[in-house]
Parts: sequence; C-alpha cells; structure tokens
Amino acid sequence: MTGANAAPRDPIGRRGLVLILSSPSGAGKTTLTRAIAEDGGWGLELSISVTTRARRPSEIDGRHYHFIDREAFEDLRARDDLLEWAEVHGNFYGTPRCPVEKVLSTGRDMIFDIDYQGTRQVRSKLADDVVTVFILPPSMAELRQRLERRAEDSPATIEKRLANARVEIQRWSEYDYVIVNNDLQNAFTSLQGILTAERLKRTRRTGLGTFVEGLLDEAAGRP
Ligand code: 5GP
Repeated sequence: MTGANAAPRDPIGRRGLVLILSSPSGAGKTTLTRAIAEDGGWGLELSISVTTRARRPSEIDGRHYHFIDREAFEDLRARDDLLEWAEVHGNFYGTPRCPVEKVLSTGRDMIFDIDYQGTRQVRSKLADDVVTVFILPPSMAELRQRLERRAEDSPATIEKRLANARVEIQRWSEYDYVIVNNDLQNAFTSLQGILTAERLKRTRRTGLGTFVEGLLDEAAGRP
C-alpha cells in the first residue's frame, strides 16, 4: 500500500481538504483511515478524537484516541473546543477543534474517522472543503464475523454495534462516495483514487488561473 506516486503538495496550490470516512463498526474504515494516514506519501494528517469509551487492549492513548472521562468531555464541549461531537453506542466522541484549524490553515489535508452525526456537523462548518466516503461491508454476515474475529468487544457490545449498524448503513446516501469493502487492498485503491481526483478538482486549486495565464503568455511569446 503506497501513495508514493501522489505528490502530497500541489505545485499550483490548493486549499486543504477534509476527508471523512464513515461506516458501521467492523466495515474496515479504521484500517483504511490509518493505512492512508500512515502512508507518508499521501501527506494526510489524522484527526485523533477524544472519547469516553473504555480503551481496547490494542489501543494506545493519544494514538488511537485521547481517552478521557465524561467530566473532561463535558468541559471541552462547554468551552467550544470540539469541532463536532456525538453519542455513539452509549459513549461520547468528539473532534478537537484546534488541531484541525492548524492543519487546514497551512493548506494540508486531514482525514477523519467519524460517524454520520459528526459528518453532518463538519460539513455544515467546512462545506466546500469536505469530501465524504461511506464504507459498506459486503454482507451483514461478514460484518458480524469481523466484529467477532476482532475479539476486543464483549458479546453484548457486539450485538449493540450490529443493531446500530442498520441505523448507520441507512445514512449511505448522504455521502459523496461509497466503497464496498470486500477486499481491503481494492478498497484502499479506491480510496486513493478518490483522494487523487479530489485533489485535482479545479475549484480547489487556487493558483490555476495564474498558471494558465502564464501558459497563454508563453504561447503568445510574451516574456
Ligand atoms: P469505535 O468505538 O469503534 O472506535 O467507534 C465507534 C464509532 O464512533 C465509529 O463509527 C467512529 O467512526 C465514531 N467516531 C469515532 N470518533 C468520532 C468522533 O470524534 N466524532 C464522531 N461523531 N464519531 C466518532
């Protein structure tokens, strides 16, 4: 999995974009998000959420989430330090505002692994700079198997996540792109394609007019 062919910075210049991935738990969104964020060739900054959910054994505080208690979460919310927040599966999740503003203000891109409620809030705030991708499992049986294979959640939690999956899947049509993840490598290739195309969008490329004027001057033999 490499994004070495994709120059992270566009020599013609463009605004930073916000790439949001959503899906029901177990559809592969977190794996995809981390794969593309950790591949330095894509130059994508990963947004690390805060959550009141208990840490899973494989998770590292500050890398997968900032694990905080309910009181700390409410403090952040009260201070308007969250760009968006939502209650998911009975826990609170939110995106710290400051890192996002910092990254976008320098024209870099950021990737988010958040649910449909958060997606709506980010879209309403950052509109044109937001690109949304929904990841679907190939079947509900496969989704169940993936959650069970992960073996990091209790059976009751898995049942809750499967029940919520139906609600989340129904939001698919609010997204710009949909990827059915029946093969991780294919899904990753699709995601790379989306990012490449979105980065090339004319409306995002701030210096394109000047660049074309230069070409036309050159064509007319002007220095
Ligand atoms: P999990 O507990 O499996 O890590 O995440 C549960 C759900 O919460 C996933 O759908 C994930 O995308 C979503 N989520 C994670 N962080 C955030 C966040 O900061 N905001 C919102 N709205 N959803 C989040």
